[in-house]
Amino acid sequence: MSTVQDRLGRPLRNLRISVTDRCNLRCQYCMPEEHYVWLPRSDILEFEEIDALVDCFTELGVDRIRLTGGEPLMRHDLTTLVRLLAAKPAVRDLALTSNGLLLAEHAAGLAAAGLHRVTVSLDTLRPERFHALTRRTAHAQVLSGIAAARAAGFRSLKLDTVVMRGTNEDELVDLIEYGKTVGAEVRFIEYMDVGGATHWSIDKVYSRDAMLADLGRHYGAIAPIREESAAPAERYRLSDGTVFGIIASTTAPFCRSCDRARLTADGMWYLCLYARIGIDLRAALRAGATKEALKARIAAGWQARADRGAEQRLDRRDRAPLLAVSELRKDPHLEMHTRGG
Ligand code: SAM
Repeated sequence: MSTVQDRLGRPLRNLRISVTDRCNLRCQYCMPEEHYVWLPRSDILEFEEIDALVDCFTELGVDRIRLTGGEPLMRHDLTTLVRLLAAKPAVRDLALTSNGLLLAEHAAGLAAAGLHRVTVSLDTLRPERFHALTRRTAHAQVLSGIAAARAAGFRSLKLDTVVMRGTNEDELVDLIEYGKTVGAEVRFIEYMDVGGATHWSIDKVYSRDAMLADLGRHYGAIAPIREESAAPAERYRLSDGTVFGIIASTTAPFCRSCDRARLTADGMWYLCLYARIGIDLRAALRAGATKEALKARIAAGWQARADRGAEQRLDRRDRAPLLAVSELRKDPHLEMHTRGG
């Protein structure tokens, strides 16, 4: 197996596959609008097509795959895809990111199909706040989904929380304490100015430093965990041994170690969360390209990569939402829910 590197020496190791652009929540930081332009159904990759592309990626160095969306559990029969991917020895880590709504129904089946890990997005423990943030009444379903994931016995369970000033920054301790009760590691994510976040502003960002200060006041000493990893979260340990993470994508981006690329449900390949242009792998696949030709295209794309999207955003003064609603309507691939987060 060869491992391709980009222009900054970063390997291609991590592939996030969005299996649908549809979502059953309307989170204010991701899908705040009333109307969206959806990908045409006929463009959505079949599982066999995803399977074929994954073989190309693994032969170029990818060994970690995360299924995402939209809400990945809205994709019919997702366990079939999980079974296909889990059977590949080259896939050493197969994870799913879900909002949890449909997890109670599917957790056991996903585990049986070979899924290794689950991350559930959970921004609040308060049902009324959940409703205000997501515009859906489904908090209890999410908690049942988390309980089901725990019962299904995945290798690890994580809870991801987007922290927004004025929305949920007062729940950091509650979320860590909840994480302890369900055996999950909590990761706090800074609010990012990505596509879809059309209501973003810098004063709604609750920074890593602010989070650490709050948690330090409550828990006392917090020890950073030193680890060699391309994972986005910096991890910390409380004095009772509890570990949590912070993903400081907005105030301290980690482009230098980013080994992630994203495949949309319709087969567009993006090399950076902030990239405006992707590489159309569906067209090549459906035109009958051979595996070698697809691999050559992917390798060439990665070798040309110099993206440092989040770091470049950091240099901007008067930082505002990345994209206007009109731009997102013209190209839904720019949306976070299409790109998979
Ligand atoms: N529906 C699934 C879920 O809720 O986890 C998967 C897709 S969602 C787009 C993936 C992740 O992106 C979620 O954890 C979500 O909180 C995060 N996300 C979306 N918009 C964000 C933003 N503006 N800033 C930070 N994280 C964001």
